[in-house]
Amino acid sequence: MYKDLDMKKLIKFTKTLKVLYVEDNEETRDSLEGLLRNYFSDITLASNGSDGLEKFKSTPFDLIITDLKMPKMNGIEMMKKIRAVDEEIPIVVSTAYQDQEFLMSCIELSTNGYLLKPINHKQLTRVIKCVCGKLYYISENRRYEESLEFLVQERTQELEISKKQLSIMANKDALTNLYNRRYFHDISQTLLHLGQRKQNSLSLLMIDIDRFKLVNDTYGHLAGDSVLKELASVLLKTTRGSDVVIRFGGEEFVIILPQTHINDAVQIAQKIRSAIKNLDIHIQNNIDKILKITVSIGVTECYCDDDKEIDTIIRRADEAMYEAKHNGRDKIVIYEKKVI
Ligand code: GH3
Ligand code: MG
Ligand code: MG
Ligand code: MG
Repeated sequence: MYKDLDMKKLIKFTKTLKVLYVEDNEETRDSLEGLLRNYFSDITLASNGSDGLEKFKSTPFDLIITDLKMPKMNGIEMMKKIRAVDEEIPIVVSTAYQDQEFLMSCIELSTNGYLLKPINHKQLTRVIKCVCGKLYYISENRRYEESLEFLVQERTQELEISKKQLSIMANKDALTNLYNRRYFHDISQTLLHLGQRKQNSLSLLMIDIDRFKLVNDTYGHLAGDSVLKELASVLLKTTRGSDVVIRFGGEEFVIILPQTHINDAVQIAQKIRSAIKNLDIHIQNNIDKILKITVSIGVTECYCDDDKEIDTIIRRADEAMYEAKHNGRDKIVIYEKKVI
């Protein structure tokens, strides 16, 4: 398995590992350290088992290479103490010693590699390929899993955002970016019930552009579209954030005014009517031409105890709006047939 390992990649990886090398013989230590430097940059040296154990306890290592026969504490004893707290860390034994008991202990302590002195480059490479190759695959696998997890998280987030955008889009009118009729049906009944429960007034405006067909017929449908957009922005500017502005039909708009008495609703309607009347609409490709429009508005208030259905309220506002049309347009009519 490790035969096919790309040595360049492996060495790039081994250079990131922290190695503890335990050897009592200074000459051997110098010589093997020289060879080890081909693979590792971060090597901590220890001169016997107890020194090695101290260093192991104070710093985390990725790999331990140890001699067996050493003063103070030999390699087997040190390994036993290390294995008692860490069963995973790879340990490579380097020794000239071939005592059977020692070798059996090495196997029992699950040593991961064995270097027989005198150690040459070829022997070392084989052991490193085997021991570090495994570490390399584990780390690659972890990196792959992490990147996969990151990708999944990223995709999930993107999906959440698109879902939100989609639900916003489903509730909005593409031309004016105002709420659409679908949203009106979702929200209006809820607002009505809320108003009834809290005994709050709720008013509603039905706004229709006067003689809008003439705009389309005279200046074209695109000019008509810009008029609708400009009007939408006036409606948003003249209302509060808690009011719900809806494009109800082609050139018809509904505004739900929660917690608003009829008198206040009429004031808002007046504000809207005059803002639209004063609006200068510039037509594309016809800079000199300024277009003026007016609107007719029907106003009604919800009678908390009687009005159970939003359709009833819409019908009243619609009736009042048509009354305004009949009275000459550019007017506001309150449902009870009062002309202002
Ligand atoms: P009234 O004062 O009686 O309301 O007259 P009106 O011309 O506004 O009413 P009518 O119902 O006869 O015409 C409405 C026009 O609105 C006709 C239709 O082409 C236009 N319209 C509806 N939706 C759009 C749209 O999205 N863009 C454009 N440019 N025009 C639209
Ligand atoms: Mg020794
Ligand atoms: Mg209309
Ligand atoms: Mg109209």
